[in-house]
Amino acid sequence: MYHRIQTTKPQQFINITNMVADEVKKSNVRDGIAVVYVPHTTAGVTINESADPDVVRDMISALDKTYPVHGDYLHFEGNSHAHIKASLMGSSCSVIIQDGKLLLGTWQGIYFCEFDGPRNRKFYVKIMEG
Ligand code: ZN
Repeated sequence: MYHRIQTTKPQQFINITNMVADEVKKSNVRDGIAVVYVPHTTAGVTINESADPDVVRDMISALDKTYPVHGDYLHFEGNSHAHIKASLMGSSCSVIIQDGKLLLGTWQGIYFCEFDGPRNRKFYVKIMEG
């Protein structure tokens, strides 16, 4: 099953932890794995700190310094920086489900990472028991 997500900025991290947690709850799986998959080449997914919003702001800023929007790229679409950042974050992440809940650390959240927005995007959540 997939979720639609509307990003609102060129580069943006959106906390999707609650959406994934809701899927886990609906599945009634007590022990297993939740996989979040992003089927895009200029967006990704990562797990990082969700307590202080400055952390994801700093991550975007640091990625931008290393891979600037306008750089020495050949790709005709002009969005190579977004392709690179998407691959760095990755297109999927897995979280253990324990006692019916995502086994995330106290400060961890799951982020959808937009690098070429704003756009209509989607991500899949697959829950496996075991
Ligand atoms: Zn491209």
